Amino acid sequence: MHTFNLEQYMRFSASHLESLVDERGRTYFDIFRTTPAEAVFDWPDYVDLPARYLEASILLQPVLGRPVTTAPALRRWLFSHFEQDGLCYRPETLIASHWAELFDQARLMYLLITGMMAHPEDGEFRTRLEKMCRTLKAKATFEKDYAYIEKIGIYFGGTLIRPLVQAGLALKDPQWIEFAGAMSRGIIDHSDHYGPDGSFSGHHHGHLGTLAGILAYAVLAGDTRLRDRVRAIFDWSRSISTASGFIPEVANRSDDLIVCETCTLMDYLDVALLLARHVDGRYWDVVEKATRNQLVEAQINNPDWLAEEPRRPDEEDIIRSDIRRRVTGAFAGWAAPHAQLGVAEEQQRDTWVKTPALQPRYWGKIRALQNCCAGAGVRALHQVWSNLATFADGTLSVNLLMDKAIPEAVITSFIPFEGRVKIQLRRDCAVRFRVAPEVPARDVRATVAGRPVALTPDGVFLNAGKLAKGDILEITLPLPARTETFTVGNPGFQSYKFEADWKGDTVVAMRPDPANPTTGYSFVMKTKIPVYFGADAPGLMYQRADWRADRHDVTPAALTEDSRAVDWFSLKK
Ligand SMILES: [Zn+2]
Repeated sequence: MHTFNLEQYMRFSASHLESLVDERGRTYFDIFRTTPAEAVFDWPDYVDLPARYLEASILLQPVLGRPVTTAPALRRWLFSHFEQDGLCYRPETLIASHWAELFDQARLMYLLITGMMAHPEDGEFRTRLEKMCRTLKAKATFEKDYAYIEKIGIYFGGTLIRPLVQAGLALKDPQWIEFAGAMSRGIIDHSDHYGPDGSFSGHHHGHLGTLAGILAYAVLAGDTRLRDRVRAIFDWSRSISTASGFIPEVANRSDDLIVCETCTLMDYLDVALLLARHVDGRYWDVVEKATRNQLVEAQINNPDWLAEEPRRPDEEDIIRSDIRRRVTGAFAGWAAPHAQLGVAEEQQRDTWVKTPALQPRYWGKIRALQNCCAGAGVRALHQVWSNLATFADGTLSVNLLMDKAIPEAVITSFIPFEGRVKIQLRRDCAVRFRVAPEVPARDVRATVAGRPVALTPDGVFLNAGKLAKGDILEITLPLPARTETFTVGNPGFQSYKFEADWKGDTVVAMRPDPANPTTGYSFVMKTKIPVYFGADAPGLMYQRADWRADRHDVTPAALTEDSRAVDWFSLKK
């Protein structure tokens, strides 16, 4: 058994990226829990998903040690939707209308910026990004100190702010940062999306993506008012989430259904990472607990809850063959706190299917996965992986006690199997590391070559002082066991109770209350439907019984050195 490391989960996702993209480069948004299960092409597969999958491919390449095989086809398909004005359009089809939708453009900008950072030699990313920024700004309405495109929206518009800030940094062009600031002020000062207590309603992924953008802008601009407002809103988001990283897909949903979308967790981690790095180190704890638990457990590793029988052939826009293998490595779209599928809800019977003949392809089928989350899961892993250890002003900060190789050090962590970490230095520098708030500092020991090293409190860190190249700092700490009881549910509706056994930062078992309801009202379907908050839910997570007791047979995983080429978090000009 190898140490717990994020690279293993990143590599595992490649099998999905390489097996559920067809020869035309098309992704498949819907996975339906039909008999047999089906992957179905849908409108997000024109721009949104191929942009996420292509970005994921770029993020994965260094740890995979080779390009993702489907990346060239994804790029051809996605880029075929660019038009003269530099935006990417959904085409006019029976499931889509000709439209350069702004959330699509946001996904695309994330890709173009990551592509530019990872492959500066590939000029197409830069030229397309510059043109997109110019066109978006030309579409904006500028009032006194704020701006918006068509309306002051969150999903539609707000989600552009994070990539606009990063575009300003990557292109070294401050006008995009100023544009992002004007969009931020529109949302915070000239809309009623957020209550005085930081509360909000609706699509949580859109809200958190927007908040990450406003926060990145506020940090760069030194705008403490915007910064503190985002922090308050994020703290409200935390109040409806769990420490293990269960973040509701919809805030204040008005029915009995509550599930975690991996996309939402991705943006939650983005905000928490920005807060931890630039505002308050206590948010590292939020990051570590959500990552070690819900994020990695949301990765599909045993989809035996999807039927492959009876065998039926694939057809245009529907894949049924090998469906379990094809979804392995993707991420949950509607997880419960303890399982990869929380509810048996069907797709909204909206008007987007333009002919009755096509409706049976989408309607009346239980949704198992939404594959926006497949790309989002990889991005979320990379976000955390790129922040595990940072180096500034002669000090190495080990922010999370997880395996990591960077130019300054190699970190090997035996957590959660043992409370033991080794930091091998590749240069002379000061070293500090962070332990969970549940661990008393007096119980943490550090040595170099058997000699005790004094540890000095340094904010949320313990500072081991200056060490030399070649030194190996050996740390031991307790992993306190505790049991936590929590409930999830929308205010005024049914709730579901769980018990989590923690070992340090890691959940080693999650037990649903046997009294949890087995059906719940869905406002989408306007009826009661099965919900999976019991012990027989599909895709049970936390099958970690052999993590509970300490074990000493764990060997260090091979690591990839992070070149830091793709950097969304230092916010350096
Ligand atoms: Zn998603």
